[in-house]
Amino acid sequence: MKLRGAKEVGQFVAQVSIRRRGRCRLAVVSFALMLVGCGPEYNGLFDPLDDRLGKAEQQGSETLFDLSEFADPNKLEIVITGDGYTADEQELLRQQAKALTDRLMIVDPFSRYGGLLRIRFVPLISARSGLAPEQNPLGCSAMTIRRAVCDERRVRHWRDGLGWDVGETIVLLNVADPLGGAHHKGRYITAIGSAPGIAIHELAHAFGLADEYIDVAVVAEHVQRGASVLKIADSKPNCSTDPTRWAIWQKDGSLGEPEAGCYYTARAYSPSAHCKMRYTTEAAFCVVCREFLVAELYRRVGGPLIKATPEPSPWRRTPIGVSPTTFRLDLRGPRYDVISDDSRAAPLIIEWKLDGRVIVAGSELSLSCDNARGASKLSVTVRDPSRWVRSAAANLALASEQTWWLRSSCR
Ligand SMILES: [Zn+2]
Repeated sequence: MKLRGAKEVGQFVAQVSIRRRGRCRLAVVSFALMLVGCGPEYNGLFDPLDDRLGKAEQQGSETLFDLSEFADPNKLEIVITGDGYTADEQELLRQQAKALTDRLMIVDPFSRYGGLLRIRFVPLISARSGLAPEQNPLGCSAMTIRRAVCDERRVRHWRDGLGWDVGETIVLLNVADPLGGAHHKGRYITAIGSAPGIAIHELAHAFGLADEYIDVAVVAEHVQRGASVLKIADSKPNCSTDPTRWAIWQKDGSLGEPEAGCYYTARAYSPSAHCKMRYTTEAAFCVVCREFLVAELYRRVGGPLIKATPEPSPWRRTPIGVSPTTFRLDLRGPRYDVISDDSRAAPLIIEWKLDGRVIVAGSELSLSCDNARGASKLSVTVRDPSRWVRSAAANLALASEQTWWLRSSCR
């Protein structure tokens, strides 16, 4: 099947995420297949972690993206691998993983917040080219003409065997059809290897965004099984039954009128007619999705403060003597060497306070008895003043705080 029009390509992908609450149905289907002898994956006798995965030849990992100026032990790890790529197709897989990484790093907000990520490629050799769930290590297959799913237990087993903490797993598929899917319970996404835009759309699902396009078939499906698309829509940052929800972005024209969307032609709205969550071929996320992604990236890594030294303790006061003690902050944040439409972007704002008095300093502050006498309290707030984030809730994720209780050893 050829890649179809942008709208269709965009539409197929997102069936996936909204169906994540529909696993019972899938389980029933799998069980039914098992009964008729068509589903050898879970028949109770077959160990899904058998030698097909064990024998899959892994060739180590290759770091595709990792900004060295951000020395951060808690970077969000994204691993890209593939299912359906034979030994002869490993270079194709690597090229597709690289192309996806390159594309992701020119899409806002990942472009500016790439320092919070580390992207690694791990080759994985399949016995068969394309979709062959019986033979290939991750057991990926097409659930529908649009949606691809892998064997969740195989994915988990493979990921656990990597030996590092993986935040998101991207399984590229060696197929011609525009397949994709986000599988929240198994914490992985699937996407056709030759279309990076689809993989980025699916990755945004993994972060928590919903589809913005219209697909009445999805609505009908939900109605059929008693689920409410509207309820789901209202739980997502980029869907709502209330078109005034994004007024904060509309008042200065950053956002136009909300559009009918989130599968519905009426009753549900998405923030914009132009967003990667509406069409996978769109270059950019809308301002609402971009805001959510910035906040979510910070949430995943724990805010802009990586580490503060000396290590603060709520139980022990930090001694301050005649010679200065240096308080140091290791920080993570945006990079401004990338092309940006936000010319007023500012670096992180750091605010130190000693017993409530503001002290002007950067990521280092030295204190001695001259500054701090007796018992005192030192606090610091680090905040990313990004203009991409406006809501109070999202802004919470962009700030870190730290407090030291001090004791002067001088008389
Ligand atoms: Zn959007």
